Amino acid sequence: MSRIIQTRCCIAGGGPAGVMLGYLLARAGIDVVILEKHGDFFRDFRGDTIHPSTLEVVYELGLLDEFLRLPHQEIKEIGGQIGDEFIPLADTTHLPTHCKFLGFMPQWDFLNFFSEQGRKYPQFHLMMEAEVTDLLIEGNTVAGVKAMTPSGELEVRATLNIGCDGRSSTVRERAGLQVKSLGAPIDVLWFRVSRRPDDPGQVLGRFIPGKILVMLNRDEYWQCAFVIRKGMFDEIRQRGMDSFRDDIISVAPFLKDRAHEINDWEQIKLLTVLVDHLRKWYRPGLLCIGDAAHAMSPVGGVGINLAIQDAVATANILAHPLSENYISLTHLQQVQWRREFPTKVTQWGQVQVQEQILSAVLGSEGQVKPPWFLRLFKNLPVLRRIPARLIGMGVRPEHVRTPDILNPPPPYQAPREAPFSFWHLPR
Ligand SMILES: Cc1cc2nc3c(=O)[nH]c(=O)nc-3n(C[C@H](O)[C@H](O)[C@H](O)COP(=O)(O)OP(=O)(O)OC[C@H]3O[C@@H](n4cnc5c(N)ncnc54)[C@H](O)[C@@H]3O)c2cc1C
Repeated sequence: MSRIIQTRCCIAGGGPAGVMLGYLLARAGIDVVILEKHGDFFRDFRGDTIHPSTLEVVYELGLLDEFLRLPHQEIKEIGGQIGDEFIPLADTTHLPTHCKFLGFMPQWDFLNFFSEQGRKYPQFHLMMEAEVTDLLIEGNTVAGVKAMTPSGELEVRATLNIGCDGRSSTVRERAGLQVKSLGAPIDVLWFRVSRRPDDPGQVLGRFIPGKILVMLNRDEYWQCAFVIRKGMFDEIRQRGMDSFRDDIISVAPFLKDRAHEINDWEQIKLLTVLVDHLRKWYRPGLLCIGDAAHAMSPVGGVGINLAIQDAVATANILAHPLSENYISLTHLQQVQWRREFPTKVTQWGQVQVQEQILSAVLGSEGQVKPPWFLRLFKNLPVLRRIPARLIGMGVRPEHVRTPDILNPPPPYQAPREAPFSFWHLPR
């Protein structure tokens, strides 16, 4: 016999989309249960970028100072090493946001911070080690989810169920929502190597013929992403570890003295890149957002930001109807209408970069030279504001419109009558 919980909103998945949405709804006074299959947030290789538009949301929530006390790096200029040439690509210092930089913070710190904030609200219930296994469907409506927990099976019944369980979403698969795949010609190998204070600065990527390496500065180590052609990992393994280390050194020669730190294939994680989106993000009783609605490529490192913007828009649109315990298909459709355009534009851009730049570099054998239009970025600094805006703020930045039950706005006070004044007499 499974345990049954009744709530207003059940969220499957405690990633950036799920935790932010759960926090915003609980903050607005709505009872919410988040089910996360892992026991903690300490998983590596999940993307660590916190964009200026996400930081703006944190500012609007009144949490920015506290948030920025967590260890993080601030990057204001991003560039790429293409062959022998360094091209500065984005300059975030002119963005119309409070934080004019891209933050790098381990995702577990971000998720721990927002789950701690969520726990201040009695309506916030985060259940770890609770894996959603199926949906409870009554008629044509999703009435809840089934989950497996260490203490046995659990049924969570809710007015609305939201799939935030990432790109291999169980929820979207069980709901039978149709996926449109945009294809991805690349995969990524993640690993880390130690960092020294005199190492070169962070760049968006290092490109040489046939090889691309992205290196994220994590203070004590480099989080490295080696981009490979799709399905090539087995061949790389067969060539052996020495050959793999040589590949890394050829892109980043300053790693020569510590390439030996990579000595076991267990240290290297293959992340299969997917780019897709749902044709319809909802059905009665159910909505998908974040990667569950649209798996993002790592290009531009914008997936977390999009997941958070989805969460803000969803809370803005659904908090009021949820507080009245009535969600119609029109409400769910509004969420898709609001977020579908930014998703499609961003994915289109990612596909262009994957196909026109990354595939071209991986397939090239001669010298890699920056295309003419990228050279313009070197000579015309004002151009660097365009990618900064696209990456840093995204296509349609969202703003927090939901209330905070712990800090309600002061009661309305009618303006006092103006005192009698000679100057206000009709002439
Ligand atoms: C190689 C790679 C690198 C990337 N790098 C970046 C980057 O640097 N910056 C960036 O912004 N984006 C990056 N992205 C994209 C980014 O990771 C995602 O877009 C973003 O994490 C989506 O957030 P989400 O909350 O929708 O899903 P996820 O982050 O995938 O979170 C889903 C959560 O649901 C949980 N879950 C899954 N199934 C279940 C279940 N059945 N029951 C309960 N819980 C479940 C998971 O454990 C997870 O915690 C990268 C993607 C890839 C593939």
